Amino acid sequence: TTPSDSPTIKPINKGVVHRICAGQVILDLSAAVKELVENSLDAGATSIEIALKDYGKEWFQVIDNGCGISPNNFKVLALRHHTSKLVGFPDLQSLTTFGFRGEALSSLCALGNLTVETRTKNEPVATHLTFDHSGLLVAEKKTARQVGTTVTVKSLFSNLPVRCKEFGRNIRKEYGKLVSLLNAYALIAKGVRIVCTNATGKNAKSVVLKTQGSGSLKDNIVTLFGMSTFNCLEPVSISVSESCKVDGFLSKSGQGSGRNMGDRQFFFVNGRPVDMPKVTKLVNELYRGANSQQHPIAIMDFTVPTRACDVNVTPDKRKVFFSDESSILIALREGLQQIYSPNNARFSVNKV
Ligand code: ADP
Ligand code: MG
Repeated sequence: TTPSDSPTIKPINKGVVHRICAGQVILDLSAAVKELVENSLDAGATSIEIALKDYGKEWFQVIDNGCGISPNNFKVLALRHHTSKLVGFPDLQSLTTFGFRGEALSSLCALGNLTVETRTKNEPVATHLTFDHSGLLVAEKKTARQVGTTVTVKSLFSNLPVRCKEFGRNIRKEYGKLVSLLNAYALIAKGVRIVCTNATGKNAKSVVLKTQGSGSLKDNIVTLFGMSTFNCLEPVSISVSESCKVDGFLSKSGQGSGRNMGDRQFFFVNGRPVDMPKVTKLVNELYRGANSQQHPIAIMDFTVPTRACDVNVTPDKRKVFFSDESSILIALREGLQQIYSPNNARFSVNKV
């Protein structure tokens, strides 16, 4: 047999590329809402409301009182790789904002229907903006609003049939993941009032979670999980090196929970919620050494020099690389061993 002709290499249609990439940035409902909440935090908001309709399936909205978007940015707002946050490559090494790639709004346009209402302190009225699936501004009208921004996404994934079907089928699970993620931001965003509401069918909206905008992690834990839960926690503060430390709260060794605490374990790097599989494993392993019957709550914020970590690893920015992960893990193991050692006088350990 003779080999068939070598096929011609051609560029993929731009719109298709856009949709393919968008589907990687916005994997699910929680990834979509996360991007909007991060934009509100980056805009300096002190109040953020996340409103869901039918658990986010119908639409979701993030309403903030941040700086707003100025009219000269309206046209480029939802274009891919357009951002007000990152200019040159060196900026990537000293990131202080959640966003930096200018992909979220453009991806949300590709996957659903995006509208924005915004007003800066220099504008007397707000503007309502409608974007098409390629991120182009297609309609603009004046409206009433306080200073800040509301971003609304309708029919997420309507443009990706398979994902859309999955989304509908797994909506309760997606919603659970979203609530856990919002808890993470509500815990760590100090001085920011965060409220999430959901309205189903014809019912009025109900409050899913709510913080008061306190400046302390302790207050946020008490508001979200209750005083009795807080009383079962022990503050932790472990120093890894001169410029690196871990602060937070962990279940006291005799006072974990019988159920899996996966939705009550939160890890942050410089105030950014992230996944830390190795740290999660270590915490659970050492806790199990002291209490084999229960699972711990864990809320741990790592302070690391921005140059020593890289958050630009995965499209959802949930993964981080550390330049010296092994010394972090070693110091953490030692610190946790001290806390969970049966001889530690700080606890009344209920041996099980
Ligand atoms: P990135 O956050 O990486 O810059 P996005 O696509 O999420 O990219 O947002 C694009 C730009 O839109 C941001 O850089 C910011 O200037 C503006 N923006 C988005 N959301 C808001 C908001 N809630 N308040 C003020 N500006 C916003
Ligand atoms: Mg962003």
